[in-house]
Amino acid sequence: MIIDGHAHMITESIAKSMKISPHILKYMNQEWAKHSVKEHVESWIDAMDKNEIEKTVFMATAHLNEDFTEFINSSNRFVGFARINPLLPNALDILKAEYNNSMKGVKLYATNDGFDVSCDCNPIYEYCEKMKLPIVIHFGMTIGGKSDLFHGNPVMLSRVLRDFPNINFTIAHFGAGFFRELLMLKYKQDNLFVDTSGTNNWIDYQDNPFSLKDVFEKTIKVFTPQNIIFGSDTRIFPGGYRENILKEQRGILDELRLSEKDKEDIMYNNAKKVFNI
Ligand SMILES: [Zn+2]
Repeated sequence: MIIDGHAHMITESIAKSMKISPHILKYMNQEWAKHSVKEHVESWIDAMDKNEIEKTVFMATAHLNEDFTEFINSSNRFVGFARINPLLPNALDILKAEYNNSMKGVKLYATNDGFDVSCDCNPIYEYCEKMKLPIVIHFGMTIGGKSDLFHGNPVMLSRVLRDFPNINFTIAHFGAGFFRELLMLKYKQDNLFVDTSGTNNWIDYQDNPFSLKDVFEKTIKVFTPQNIIFGSDTRIFPGGYRENILKEQRGILDELRLSEKDKEDIMYNNAKKVFNI
């Protein structure tokens, strides 16, 4: 069985509250916004059954959205992470309300929301530590109208990893361009994890050519297979479940001759352990 550790669910109301700017919208097929919550639930359950996925972890892209809450609570195979922007004056209240809505973790969009993970988030970290909530962070490159790469460097998390050793921090998409920094950050840090999600097209923007297989190989060496979480970054509409990503990444693990146990850890056990699900 598989746990998909990173996916999204976007309806029309979610898309609206994301306030995506027109110059970004033109890059996006907005079919995802045309479907009801019920259609999202049915399509996801269908895709998960077909691909032997036991649970999927959904990263919210809006705050306190009713569609998202309804979706997450419609099946015990769906796990929700709340989007928190610490620059909002009521960020902590949002987090507490999201916790009451059954969200099991926090997603921080450091680049999209343009905040400093080292200085701006202490009340969020304190609450997460108290409630044992894991945190996933998107650093690096991203599509987003207001995104600010200045705040996208995972190195900014260095002090936080030291000061909050009981919080499990996961960096999405191998650091989405800050791969070198991601690897350095792992040095003697037990509470740092990484997810493999998405197309990983950040590789195309690196100054020296390497492949996704190289990325996996190096990450396995530095992080060990016990600290890597599989994710597809699927939004079910349009295009359905990203089976191509699942297939490609499983193929790479086979090519790298990982043991069955290591493969199971990446595809299933690590998400269970790190996200407490
Ligand atoms: Zn994502």
